[in-house]
Amino acid sequence: MFNGGAPLPDMGSLPQFEYVEPSTLQHALYILNRYGDSACILAGGTDLLVQMRDGKKAPKYIVNIKKIPQLEGIRFEKEGVVIGALTTVNTIHESKLVKEMFPALHQAAGVLASYQVRNRATIGGNLCNASPAADLAPPLLIYEAKLKIVGADGENEVPIECFFLGPGKTVIERGMVLKEIYIPKPKENTYSIHLKFGERRAMECAIVNVAASMTIEDSLCKDVKIALGSVAPTPIRAKTAEAEVCGKKVDEEVIERAAEAAAKDSRPISDIRASAEYRREMVKVFVKRALRSLLVESNMKDAG
Ligand SMILES: Cc1cc2nc3c(=O)[nH]c(=O)nc-3n(C[C@H](O)[C@H](O)[C@H](O)COP(=O)(O)OP(=O)(O)OC[C@H]3O[C@@H](n4cnc5c(N)ncnc54)[C@H](O)[C@@H]3O)c2cc1C
Repeated sequence: MFNGGAPLPDMGSLPQFEYVEPSTLQHALYILNRYGDSACILAGGTDLLVQMRDGKKAPKYIVNIKKIPQLEGIRFEKEGVVIGALTTVNTIHESKLVKEMFPALHQAAGVLASYQVRNRATIGGNLCNASPAADLAPPLLIYEAKLKIVGADGENEVPIECFFLGPGKTVIERGMVLKEIYIPKPKENTYSIHLKFGERRAMECAIVNVAASMTIEDSLCKDVKIALGSVAPTPIRAKTAEAEVCGKKVDEEVIERAAEAAAKDSRPISDIRASAEYRREMVKVFVKRALRSLLVESNMKDAG
């Protein structure tokens, strides 16, 4: 007895389903098209199985794509990096290539859930689950990633900004699979950061997620991208905030105005984790922290 003899809480059970394990993408697509809406893709299962246990999803067919080798791995290609949809969050966090080229993605991968969950959770699952709080989405938005989606009619590349349609909804339709994510190499003198704010440091969905990148020379901002998570129905770019910084000498006044604009760009709701007002305040705080930190990093590089 682990609990002194008290009855164990009812953790719920999974509904009945048929399990299919294709070993090629073609086979997976065939099954998904054949079973249509009654089939659901399983990658790491860290979202899907919880939703099934909670009765939110009850697919008749589970299509485990984990045995399809071509969907996994990180490689340098076309002046950028390609990450297979099945690549785990820990593999991304530990990749030297990702750490050097896309520090904000490296940082976000390091704060998603716990080490154990990160060992199963995949980048594809994080994006396709389409939670407004998905940790990997804001960094991919600032790096302007492109998502390769395959279906019966062939392949299609979608900019990440067009991928999310609402909570739990993406452009992926029945019979389609997210194959890989392409991230172009950032320009010279570009710095980036991801900051996550939650009540705890681990195993916590964000109250606010901020990713920012800035191409900056002698304090002059040549390009900037700011993305927010957990403060709108989907992860978003804060474009009015970006306009407050782009082309300007970055100083405290500019950063202050950008933070105010980012709060206006956000459309948070009040929920169990935080009120909308609090989230808006935290957007200001974390956008300021992110931009200040990028400015300091560039000044340090300029100083030698
Ligand atoms: C305890 C716990 C803590 C968590 N903490 C966090 C957190 O801090 N931050 C965070 O962002 N997330 C968190 N999560 C959520 C989850 O771990 C991540 O979203 C994870 O990346 C999902 O990946 P997966 O491979 O497990 O997806 P799965 O559960 O296998 O799939 C998720 C959804 O995406 C679909 N899907 C998966 N892969 C593809 C594909 N290639 N093509 C098309 N559709 C696909 C599935 O059909 C399903 O609908 C947590 C989960 C748990 C259980």
